[in-house]
Amino acid sequence: MAKELDTSIQFLSGVGPKRAVLLQRELGIETLSDLIHLYPFRYIDRSGVVPIAQVAPDLAFVQLQATVISRALLGPGGAVVSQETNPIHWGAVKRLSVIVEDASGRMEMVFFKGIKWNYQRLVPGSTFLFFGKPQEFGGRLNIVHPEVDVPQDGAMAQGALTGVYPSTEKLKTGGITGKVMCKLQSAALALCLPEIQETLPEYVLRDRGLVSLQYAIKNIHFPKDSYALQKASYRLKFEELFFLQLSLLKQKFVRSRGERGLLMPKVGADFHACYNALPYTLTGAQQRVIKEIRADLMSGHQMNRLLQGDVGSGKTMVAVLSCLMAIGNGFQTCIMAPTEVLAQQHYANIQKYLKPTSVQCALLTGSTTQKERRAIHAALEDGSLGILVGTHALLEDNVVFRNLGLAVIDEQHRFGVEQRSKLWGKGPEAGGALPQETVATRSFVNGGTASEAQRWDERSEVSGGRGSARQGRIAPHVLVMTATPIPRTLAMTLYGDLDVSVIDEMPPGRKPVQTMCIGQNRRAAMYKFMRDEIARGRQVFVVFPLIFESEKMDLQNLEQGYEEIVKAFPLPDYKVAIVHGQQSNEEKNFNMAAFVAGRANILVSTTVIEVGVDVPNASVMVIESAQRFGLSQLHQLRGRVGRGAEKSYCILVKDVKTSKEAQQRLDLMCQTEDGFEIAEQDMKMRGPGDLEGTQQSGLPISLNIASLARDGALLSDARAYANQILDADPTLSEPRNAPLLRELRKDKYEIKDYSKIS
Ligand code: ADP
Ligand code: MG
Repeated sequence: MAKELDTSIQFLSGVGPKRAVLLQRELGIETLSDLIHLYPFRYIDRSGVVPIAQVAPDLAFVQLQATVISRALLGPGGAVVSQETNPIHWGAVKRLSVIVEDASGRMEMVFFKGIKWNYQRLVPGSTFLFFGKPQEFGGRLNIVHPEVDVPQDGAMAQGALTGVYPSTEKLKTGGITGKVMCKLQSAALALCLPEIQETLPEYVLRDRGLVSLQYAIKNIHFPKDSYALQKASYRLKFEELFFLQLSLLKQKFVRSRGERGLLMPKVGADFHACYNALPYTLTGAQQRVIKEIRADLMSGHQMNRLLQGDVGSGKTMVAVLSCLMAIGNGFQTCIMAPTEVLAQQHYANIQKYLKPTSVQCALLTGSTTQKERRAIHAALEDGSLGILVGTHALLEDNVVFRNLGLAVIDEQHRFGVEQRSKLWGKGPEAGGALPQETVATRSFVNGGTASEAQRWDERSEVSGGRGSARQGRIAPHVLVMTATPIPRTLAMTLYGDLDVSVIDEMPPGRKPVQTMCIGQNRRAAMYKFMRDEIARGRQVFVVFPLIFESEKMDLQNLEQGYEEIVKAFPLPDYKVAIVHGQQSNEEKNFNMAAFVAGRANILVSTTVIEVGVDVPNASVMVIESAQRFGLSQLHQLRGRVGRGAEKSYCILVKDVKTSKEAQQRLDLMCQTEDGFEIAEQDMKMRGPGDLEGTQQSGLPISLNIASLARDGALLSDARAYANQILDADPTLSEPRNAPLLRELRKDKYEIKDYSKIS
């Protein structure tokens, strides 16, 4: 079948073994197919020539047709080395200046490289096409390093739009210039184009007004005109986003229709007891999310829901009420936090919420004693323990639930993929691997409390492969909570097969955090400000960056900073605690606890405090070397303050060496507190691949032409369309959808199964 497409790039005329290695190393291109899927990232209009008199410095690129008048070889400082005389001392030449002329005027072309070669071919009296970006220099216009062509030489100068391909220094020195790349593409297309198979069904092309794949690929490289280019690029972007969403949504369909889930039809007395005793009313967003979760628990399918909510939006309450719903149906629950301090804090809060209920709650962490552990294990086994709060310790093999119905994972980005998947195995036994037919009708008996209610719904159209992989255990419902706001387009992609709930409303009474950015010269003033706040009974966070947790230098940085703070805030008036990654857990917890309890006025730390810690009395967040942090990290840190009744402040201290981009980030922080806006901006500035929290999980597939930052509308559109198709034909088994199924079977759509890990 696809013979030419699979041909090694080495055998394309103009490549050969050496260049093949180069293309492979620099661009990952191995086959002709790889080559033709390397698209230009911009285009240059070379359709006409501009008269020299009309050239202006604000024109992006221009093409001139002009005749060489004179050439000058210039040395350092512009001294003429040689003009039309021999012999030339090439070593002394720094620059070649060529004056060219057309009917309208004269202009200078300048070369700092390739001097000898250009000198030799740019003979006075001969005419060339010069192409490049004009710039103003010393009050006159010139073009540095123009591309030089003989008029009517080759297709390049005549094609209306010329593609510019990604390149590297090594490619250029290896002879693969922009021009050569165009020639290679042209040669490859001549061989491969007829082999390219349409990936979209006929009816989709018609529905969406899309050009064919062959037309698109041809015109993305060599556009006939700008209209053709637009058509080509739209088609390729749509296709890319469409298949990505189709594969994600297909997984979601399979799960939501097929994964047997624990049925929890009741709300239960404990839920109501807790709810009625709440000291506040839930926000509209909290209520909406709880309703969404309730609907999941009642559906008979396994819930896989991501709960996104900015820091302080009240996710804990949602988690507790969800747990109580599960408990109301006779199940046990667990809440897993990434650190011991956070687990402790959850535990303390949750116990408060549980007072009006009869639910038992326990804390399990690395520092839980053997004796306490035995009690917990016993209570888990006899079913008397309703909520187990803890750290990774929850995942240990000897932690056995009688009937785990719901697992809540807080701050997911701190957990590794494998750890999360372990939770799946902690669901209740299904009584061994059963054939699908018996599973469908068999009711699940556990502890005698809610057996009737628990039935697995099973629909015949879905294969049961996933269920049996779990050795007869039924996965608990899973609620993942994250405080990292993710841009909408990214969420649609990263969590495209999960259900996503968003708490987009803050509890009333939160005071805005006043944010300012200062230089080192205002440190003394900042210390004074900190003293004033401390005098008013407030506490202060001081955070230092840590780039690599193991780097000694960063630690030194932190320790120096700590010493400086201690000097400025001496005992006995002030107490300063320090927390960092190199401390033992004991030490860390001790110092952290001192600050949480108010025994220390200042907490100096690395970003270990980034997530979740709640110290309402802290009113100031100082971030040192703030230019070294990413936006979402800055936002997370700032979210640590502004949680109490007092007015709060965030002070970003920047170093002298602060890049323009870093300054942009700091400015944005001063302008807005909206986590989603910050996330959107962050993605625009850095691209989706670099967003914090996403490197680890990664995009399901890499995008070649579409961009999550720029093509948001097209993404939503493609997703909606994919949804529509799956609604009509969930398994894509209709003949007209055969091309879709064929495309989805390709390796690149073998995306990670997020449902199993989060
Ligand atoms: P996060 O989403 O960051 O985990 P928390 O659950 O820790 O937020 O809630 C932050 C604070 O807001 C807590 O002190 C909590 O008691 C309070 N809170 C939560 N929901 C509400 C509400 N509806 N009204 C008022 N305060 C609330
Ligand atoms: Mg929280």
